[in-house]
Parts: sequence; C-alpha cells; structure tokens
Amino acid sequence: MDYIVEPARSLPVVAKVDLCVIGGSCTGVFAAVRAARMGLSVALVEKTNALGGMAGNGLVCVWHSLYDTELKEQVIAGLTYEMTERLAKVNAIKTTGANPPSFVFNPEELKIELDAFVKEHKIQLFLHTLYTAAFTDGRKVTAVAIENKDGRGAIEAGFFIDASGDGDMARHLRLPHYIPEHPQPPTACWYLQGDIQSMDYISLLRTCGPEFGLEDDWGWGTTLPGGSDVHMRADTHVFDAFCADASDLTRAEMTGREQMRRIVRLLNARGNGPYRLLSACSHIGIRETYHFVTRFRADWKDLLLGRRYEDAVLNGSYRVDVHLTNPRGITLMYLDGRKVTQYGRNERTEVSDWREELGVSGPPATYYQVPFDLLVQERYDNFIAAGRMLNADEESFGALRVMVNLNQLGEAAGVAAALCVDGDVPVQKLDGVSVRRALKAGGSAL
Ligand SMILES: Cc1cc2nc3c(=O)[nH]c(=O)nc-3n(C[C@H](O)[C@H](O)[C@H](O)COP(=O)(O)OP(=O)(O)OC[C@H]3O[C@@H](n4cnc5c(N)ncnc54)[C@H](O)[C@@H]3O)c2cc1C
Repeated sequence: MDYIVEPARSLPVVAKVDLCVIGGSCTGVFAAVRAARMGLSVALVEKTNALGGMAGNGLVCVWHSLYDTELKEQVIAGLTYEMTERLAKVNAIKTTGANPPSFVFNPEELKIELDAFVKEHKIQLFLHTLYTAAFTDGRKVTAVAIENKDGRGAIEAGFFIDASGDGDMARHLRLPHYIPEHPQPPTACWYLQGDIQSMDYISLLRTCGPEFGLEDDWGWGTTLPGGSDVHMRADTHVFDAFCADASDLTRAEMTGREQMRRIVRLLNARGNGPYRLLSACSHIGIRETYHFVTRFRADWKDLLLGRRYEDAVLNGSYRVDVHLTNPRGITLMYLDGRKVTQYGRNERTEVSDWREELGVSGPPATYYQVPFDLLVQERYDNFIAAGRMLNADEESFGALRVMVNLNQLGEAAGVAAALCVDGDVPVQKLDGVSVRRALKAGGSAL
C-alpha cells in the first residue's frame, strides 16, 4: 500500500466536559443521561443524523420483556422503562402478544424522543460527527478527535465512554480484543408494504426463494404501532461480511438492499400483491464485530443458571439467540432448558434440553445478571466501553446483545463515570456495589 504523510496540525478544542460519550444509540444516550443526572457536564458524539443506533437508523424496533420469565417481577426498569412510558404518551409503542410480551415502537418517534431526552439534560450533542482518534497521557485518556462539517476538532473530558457498537475508540486505544470465528451476520431491515398476513410468507420465501436468487435463510418481522399494512422485515442476511471492515460494510449495505428487492419481486410474482419496498434502513443492522477484554467474561452456563452478583449492573431474561452462519439458521436457548435450532426458513428443527445435558435439576432461573467487572478494562483509568462489544462467549453474547440489556450497561457506564469523576477514582478501583446502589437510587430494578 502507498502512504502519504499528513502534516501535523492544531485541533480546535470544541468542548471541555466531564464526560464524552461516543455513539448515540440508547446505550450511549442512557449513559449520557444518567451521568448528567448525577451532575456531570456531558458531550455526545454520533456519526449519523439521529440518535437511536440500531433502534433508530437500523429500524430494529423491538425491546424485549422487562419481566422475569414467569412475569412475576419487573427485573428491568430505569431509563428503558422511562422511555417506554414516554413513547406510550405519543402512541408510538405497543406490546406484542408474544409470551413474554415485547415492545414494538416506531423508530422515527424514538429518535425524536431521544432528541428531547438529551435536550432536557443539557447534553452537548454532536450529530453528523465522526469520532476518529483518541489521545492519551499515561493511564489517562485526555481527548478525542472528531470530524464534521466544521472540520477536525477535539473534545477534552475527564472520562470517556465508547458506545460505538464496534468499539472504535477501544480499538484505537489498543485494548486487547478478539473476533469470534463466525461473527453473527448483519441484517438490513426494511419496510414492506402489502398484504402478507393472508398467506404463509415464510413458506413462500422458502419454496420460491432460490428462483429469485435468495438463499435459504431465517428471518422475522412485525407491524408497527398504529396498525397498517406496513411491516418491518428483518429477513435478509449478508453472510461472511465483517462489518467493522470498510469494504465488507460497503458490500453488506448493497447486498442487503438487493435482497430486499428480490423479496419484493418474489412477492409481486407469487403473493397477493401489490407489494412495495417502502423504505430501507439507513444503516445495516450489525450484530457483532469486535469484543474487548474486561475483568469479567460472560459465560453462558452462569448466565442461564441465573448466577447472582452483589455488584450486578444488569438483569435480563431474554433467551440466547444466535444467528448461525454455517449452516444457516438460528439457535435459541431458554432459561427453562429448551434448546431449539432452526435451519433455513423453518426447514428442519432440532430440539434438546441443555439443563438435562448439564445434569442440572431444581427450578430454572427466571432471570440472569452480570457484574460491574464486565465493564472494567485494565489499561485506562477513565474509560469504559459499553454495548455489543462486550466480553462474552458465543451463547451469552446471544442473550446479552439485546437492547433492554445493553441499555442497562449504558446506564451503568454513565453512573460509573459520575462516581469516578466525583471521587477522582480510577474505574478499576471503583466499588461495583456502589455502582449498583447508585443505579438503584436512580430507578433501576437491581
Ligand atoms: C437485524 C437485527 C435485529 C435485531 N433484533 C433485535 C431485537 O429485536 N431486539 C433487541 O433488543 N435487539 C436486537 N438486535 C440487537 C441489537 O439491536 C444490538 O445488539 C444493539 O442495538 C447494539 O447496541 P449498541 O449500542 O452496542 O450499538 P449500536 O446500536 O450499533 O449503536 C452504535 C452507535 O454508535 C454510532 N457510532 C459508531 N461508530 C461511531 C463513530 N466512530 N463516531 C461516532 N458515532 C459512532 C452509531 O452510528 C450508532 O448510533 C438486533 C440486531 C440486528 C442487527
């Protein structure tokens, strides 16, 4: 590869704050809001035009149950619950009939509600602004470089949270990382207009898919709140694309859109037409890229057996949900022991009981936890990465990666940042129990 040498230049410092958060999904926004509520001045940097991350520009509009698996105890509250209440006030959220019930929301309304949320908390928001580099001094991160219409600038802060999904900042800080052998494939979500309720949509795709150039694959979809013939569909997959790689990401975006068109063509030829590709996500849904090493690595057995921690920062009840690349399919593992793997579009299903296989008896756990150490890296005193870059094995990642869980990690990161800044404590020395206490005092169900 050829190189050019970039001349050194001075960067204008565009903000000096207590906390700088990179990435504006709910993980990042909730980190920012929690820290602001605890008195920190906060800057939030988002590379796209809107907040919400996958739930906004990715059109991924489902939050799972806030209850334990028996629906007896609300195990998730905090800002996730607050946001569901806010969305309910503008008729932008509904609960599904699934068991346990999930929430389906309107992503456009979520973006607007998140705008209001950051405004109310006087968070300095930078949209259309890409984080590009980190500056350090010994064990401290001192500043980040950003790029936007004004050019290149710097934000100085006392603490930094990387909520970029891929862990862009953690990577620039050279924190130890790993990539799974088969990262879960990305999916481009889209809005389909037309009648798919009166037919067996999945079977139609299975039988006619090959003729229209579609691979045997798995997918799901939902209608939006308000009721209409518009369906959010998540039934594309781009296999073998590692979306933290620029050329793979470009290919994945284009291939995802092409798959949407093929499905619409198939439906118009064989379904109860007419059908229309109404709109496509403005960012492909990335499930998995880099993971970063922290003090605690989530382990699926501890998770699904419901191990408890006195410094828990997250409660969850969502099952393990792993999208398989080879062979194509999906594996679901429930807390009650069921393990179901579906290959292709419902082509073949394998069922087993992981509790039986482990020789576990007694009542199953109804929810799980992870401790604060999941957020603690060893190298920098004032840095946390929160989001899907978390440290986990394949199965526990398949459970923890959903938004009702990552939202809580964002909140925990924001609270930890506030405690570190206030007490002038390195994150490695922070007592996880105090983080849990502060989360609880701020409305979490821990
Ligand atoms: C198709 C699909 C379906 C899914 N279905 C569900 C579901 O039904 N329910 C559920 O709960 N979960 C679901 N998930 C999982 C869930 O959506 C993700 O795991 C979760 O949204 C990841 O959150 P995150 O905050 O880590 O990252 P993201 O949501 O990816 O957010 C990262 C944010 O950082 C910004 N950013 C990235 N790099 C930079 C940078 N350099 N500078 C500035 N900003 C940057 C991005 O623009 C984005 O806003 C699904 C995922 C996919 C892909």
